[in-house]
Amino acid sequence: MTQATQKVPVLGLKEQYQPIANELEANVLSVLRSGNYILGEHVKGLEAEVAKLSGAAEAVGVANGTDALILALWALNIEPGDEVITSPFTFAATVEAIAIRGAKPVFVDIDPETFNINTKQIEAVITKKTKAILPVHLYGHPADMDPIMELARKYKLFVVEDNAQAIAATYKGKTTGSFGDVGCISFYPTKNLGAAGDAGMVTANNKEVADRLRKLRAHGMWVRYYHDELGVNSRLDEIQAVILRTKLKYLSTWNDRRRQIAKLYETLLKDCPGITLPKTSADVTHVWHQYTIRVHNNKGTETKARDILQTKLSELGVGSMCYYPVPLHMQKAFSQYGYAAGDFPVTEAVSDEVLSLPMYPELTDEQVKLVAQSIQTILGQTSIATPVIAQPVVGAV
Ligand SMILES: *Cc1c(COP(=O)(O)O)cnc(C)c1O
Repeated sequence: MTQATQKVPVLGLKEQYQPIANELEANVLSVLRSGNYILGEHVKGLEAEVAKLSGAAEAVGVANGTDALILALWALNIEPGDEVITSPFTFAATVEAIAIRGAKPVFVDIDPETFNINTKQIEAVITKKTKAILPVHLYGHPADMDPIMELARKYKLFVVEDNAQAIAATYKGKTTGSFGDVGCISFYPTKNLGAAGDAGMVTANNKEVADRLRKLRAHGMWVRYYHDELGVNSRLDEIQAVILRTKLKYLSTWNDRRRQIAKLYETLLKDCPGITLPKTSADVTHVWHQYTIRVHNNKGTETKARDILQTKLSELGVGSMCYYPVPLHMQKAFSQYGYAAGDFPVTEAVSDEVLSLPMYPELTDEQVKLVAQSIQTILGQTSIATPVIAQPVVGAV
């Protein structure tokens, strides 16, 4: 189904743009006219604003969220021979960053309720080579940071937070990105705070690490054309920075609206059979980057109930997405690390069942109701939500 005929598209980037178009366009125009395009006042301003929002001492703008992860691990001297513990249920960039540094990703299964790393299983995989734990705040729900920080202190490990999906989320009153040594933010257009292109940022609690990041993102230079060490070009540009500063003012209102929408989904779908709704742990503020349900499979059925639901929703004009269908330990790109299907049963079960529903602040209550009604209708009509045992036997009365 094309975007035009969708009643509830899965993403709403144009819808986000329209109400703030005048402001955005005026600010972009002023950057265009300024002649100052790279690492200028708006990047500095955005860094200060994001550091403040995150409760971190420093923030360093970079080209994208993937670079934020790579440069963060680089600034902490993660290198070949090192091991970094992370989740196999995340976007590939998390693990790419570890692999690109030449380090080994060591996976730990996830918690079925929060979809985040299962902190009870971390200690068992810590070795002499372990240098860091890299929790991901998936879907906008903070990882369980207390046990992670405790293990990090006990074994003297770095903590790198993948905060790409959870800017401004809180755990026990503290903002994500301020727990670990560094936090890595993505401003990819679909993230809760999105640029009109690629952009990213690293928050850091230590000035030395932040200054190292400032060098690494700019060819290893502190003084122009004096290269202290190997670096790359991962600069953030002024146009993206001014767009992000303009939108940052709305982030808190947008995240509030996301929470309202999540509540509405919860109210409308709580009695719907065949699905499990996402939960929020006590003591966290969820920022609902995604509203992800689990669609239960029928025993003995080949096609995944999730895939059937997704197709039927699309026929009704409702978009949805599967983040992520294949766990990272089962991806060809990471086969060298020796993991196999069966290693992480919760991750594997969840990958077969997850479906993310439309979730963006501009959704109307009517649209949310339409999504919920469509799911109810589909699961009521088809047998995909019904246990095999309840299927009518052919010929039975
Ligand atoms: C989006 C995302 C990234 C990568 O960010 P980019 O800006 O697209 O490079 C990394 N980790 C997670 C969990 C993400 O969702």
